[in-house]
Amino acid sequence: MEVPEYKRRRTFAIISHPDAGKTTITEKLLLFGGAIQLAGSVKGRKAARHATSDWMEMEKERGISVTTSVMQFEHNGAIVNLLDTPGHEDFSEDTYRTLTAVDSALMVIDVAKGVEDRTIKLMEVCRLRDTPILTFINKLDREGREPIELLDEVESVLKIECAPMTWPIGMGKRFKGVYQLYRDEILLFNPQHGGKIAESTLVKGLNNPHLDELLGLQADELREEIDLVKGASHEFDLDKYLRGEQTPVFFGSAINNFGIAELLDAFAEFAPPPRPRQAEQREVKPEEDKFTGFVFKIQANMDPAHRDRVAFMRICSGKFEKGMKMHHVRIGKSIQVANAITFQADSRKHVEEAYPGDIIGLHNHGTIQVGDTFTQGETLKFGGIPYFAPELFRRVVLKDPLRAKALQKGLVQLTEEGATQLFKPLKNNDLILGAVGILQFDVTAHRLKHEYNVECVYDASPINTVRWVSSDNPAKLEEFKNKAFENLAEDGGGYLVYLATSRVNLQLTEERWPDIHFSATREL
Ligand code: GDP
Repeated sequence: MEVPEYKRRRTFAIISHPDAGKTTITEKLLLFGGAIQLAGSVKGRKAARHATSDWMEMEKERGISVTTSVMQFEHNGAIVNLLDTPGHEDFSEDTYRTLTAVDSALMVIDVAKGVEDRTIKLMEVCRLRDTPILTFINKLDREGREPIELLDEVESVLKIECAPMTWPIGMGKRFKGVYQLYRDEILLFNPQHGGKIAESTLVKGLNNPHLDELLGLQADELREEIDLVKGASHEFDLDKYLRGEQTPVFFGSAINNFGIAELLDAFAEFAPPPRPRQAEQREVKPEEDKFTGFVFKIQANMDPAHRDRVAFMRICSGKFEKGMKMHHVRIGKSIQVANAITFQADSRKHVEEAYPGDIIGLHNHGTIQVGDTFTQGETLKFGGIPYFAPELFRRVVLKDPLRAKALQKGLVQLTEEGATQLFKPLKNNDLILGAVGILQFDVTAHRLKHEYNVECVYDASPINTVRWVSSDNPAKLEEFKNKAFENLAEDGGGYLVYLATSRVNLQLTEERWPDIHFSATREL
């Protein structure tokens, strides 16, 4: 019997602290997956790293936010979808949403640094859905911490069992390769900086005398260490990994192409294909005939030459076919999808068909929001990660008053992406921007200028925080709307929000209006 298409899908994202090697690994995975011929094309996006002028700095930062995309390639019969996520902390919401669209994750840890802040946060997000995690400990060509100590740290800080799949032989200058515990093979380190793949030398068997010739004293050290490791660590357990309770661990050096092929093999073999997903109404299975999917991300102006906005949709069941009609559940309309796009490494290609686990890009003309569900008629809503109340606020001030329309348009389109949120007070025409990270304000101003030709500056805003407002009592809500008019606004999605000037102000208002529900998140 033929394997259903969805079972071949491996959809994942990389989670790591900045600088651990995510970009390098992405590039090497594509290289080994045959998606690019020469490494370097992914790195190109970060080329502005050493640029000094302000503009280039900004471009670099933009690179962080804008290049999030999907890369698809085939490996050992598996169709791998790698979802890129922004590395910068100020774009973390973007990353959280992307993590709702994957079936597993790859955690990258720097051998010298161990578990870092961002890794901890991202693990927490993965926990929400018990996402299975593979671990790659990177930069073994440098001096780092003892591997045993690192595994202990992962177990105690991230509360996940570690099962070493490979074990490093020395590190830094003494790095000789890895021992593959389950294949009983030694893979010898052969540093390669280029973008080409060279065959690595394999030595069969830990007790092979050839090993002593090659490694000298390190051979016996390795034997002793492996004895110890086998006694002290957990054995790989596929079910535990799939339940998110155990992480298989690989060691290597991404920049030297070392350990990546083994990682990719294990990934194709063990990582889960799409599994059933919970919608509010019922569980949806990937093998169902009817198409379903949800939008986890919207990005404006991916290609400056085209000025388009793209909605990224994860397919959950059925099959997407070019030209098909989809039911847009939130607005209750059917739309025809003539040309959806997929992102294969660097080039965009039109797709004819796509399956559960795949990501397709829909051209969005303002009708699609993050969190929207699409079906073939059924009313379904997939739950996702909500919008969080921003902590920082700025009033947008236009330099040229004649550009007001363009400003509105730019803000609406850019805030649709979800990194910043727009609030329009009911009492006046102010435009208030809210964000979780300060960098997002600069990025928005920069993009308004370069993508919409609108120059603006920011004024301080007296707003301290916002709460989404609702009530089961329509009369009370009306009364509240009248009384609190001065402090009310509409968000980008048209929802009612209360603008609090301080924590005390918020607390008093909440006490005064017990029938009104004040929420710090907006459910998608
Ligand atoms: P990201 O911020 O997580 O995307 O990290 P990058 O992939 O940009 O890597 C951060 C830095 O570490 C860069 O200077 C890389 O060249 C370097 N790097 C990545 N992998 C390795 C490795 O295996 N060994 C060494 N020595 N450096 C590495």
